[in-house]
Amino acid sequence: MAYRGSISGISTSSLETTKIDLSIVVPIYNEAESLSHLLEEITNAVGSLQLSYEIICVDDGSTDGSTAILKELARRRSSLKAVILRRNYGQTPAMAAGFENAVGKVIITLDGDLQNDPTDIPLLLAKLEEGYDLVSGWRKQRQDAALTRLLPSKIANWLIGKVTGVKLHDYGCSLKAYRGELVADMNLYGELHRFLPALAYIEGARITEIPVRHHARRFGKSKYGLGRTVRVVMDLLTVFFMKKFLTRPMHVFGVWGLISLLIGTLMGLYLTLVKLFFNQNIGDRPLLILSVLLVVTGVQLFSFGLLAELLMRTYHESQKRPIYRIREVIKGKSYEMVNSE
Ligand code: UDP
Ligand code: MG
Repeated sequence: MAYRGSISGISTSSLETTKIDLSIVVPIYNEAESLSHLLEEITNAVGSLQLSYEIICVDDGSTDGSTAILKELARRRSSLKAVILRRNYGQTPAMAAGFENAVGKVIITLDGDLQNDPTDIPLLLAKLEEGYDLVSGWRKQRQDAALTRLLPSKIANWLIGKVTGVKLHDYGCSLKAYRGELVADMNLYGELHRFLPALAYIEGARITEIPVRHHARRFGKSKYGLGRTVRVVMDLLTVFFMKKFLTRPMHVFGVWGLISLLIGTLMGLYLTLVKLFFNQNIGDRPLLILSVLLVVTGVQLFSFGLLAELLMRTYHESQKRPIYRIREVIKGKSYEMVNSE
């Protein structure tokens, strides 16, 4: 359980300037009562490891006073960075903002409501050291409502496993450890942070999962209902549709369109010849219907491929737009001193 030592195995040149070992990213949306407990728990869990660390709390447009508490805490605590977003954007954009501000060689994510247990962080780190790029937590004994949360999650996890081919028990668990370079250029939006393991796997990352503790919510209430599962599944479908088909939609739809068009045209030609040279009646030939159908489908599919190609290009262009806006970043006075050698 005790994890000692440094984080190794980072070779990416952009990370050579990295000064600290660990960045702990926590999205915060109306978690006023949890904040001080959270920081204490995290500090207790990682303070004894011989690692330099920073805690990055991203305030996602809280309206319950979390923002003021967080700012105050950040001014006082040397290891805390408070990233304040302009409004509520959602958990994924909040995490993306955290990633952007993180400089650690390893990045840990967890929820701000004390449901994840920071004492699991050393376990994740130890697993990462075994040679993985991403270690995902698995809430084996998850403390959430069975019907509205556990069941939809089970279905979603199964579905994600099917679609992506990456089988994890618990995609939804926020407690994860990533090698820093992994999240550096991930384009996150919607509910996508859940798919980071699958997206990373596609890019060749070595991923695994370990059981972690999970507690019932102590303060406040969950920000989500059943609606999120639906949104997660929709995002999943779009992402993998985009990944699989829309990288070159013309190659998928266009080819079938052309084949269909070709066969239909050949059939039509044959019937035309029969009509012209043998003077047969072709009006009641099933082949005629088939030929017309294939030609029409062919044209439709081909134009669909063309449209999809355009859409794909527009989509990728539009990705340059940031999915969140940062109002301010607050770092304690001694922050730089403590974390830079
Ligand atoms: N969260 C956020 N923005 C949102 C909703 C949630 O930053 O719009 C944060 C929230 O403060 C918490 C984490 O995301 O730290 C997970 O949210 P929650 O605990 O409500 O989800 P659950 O545990 O019920 O899945
Ligand atoms: Mg929670």
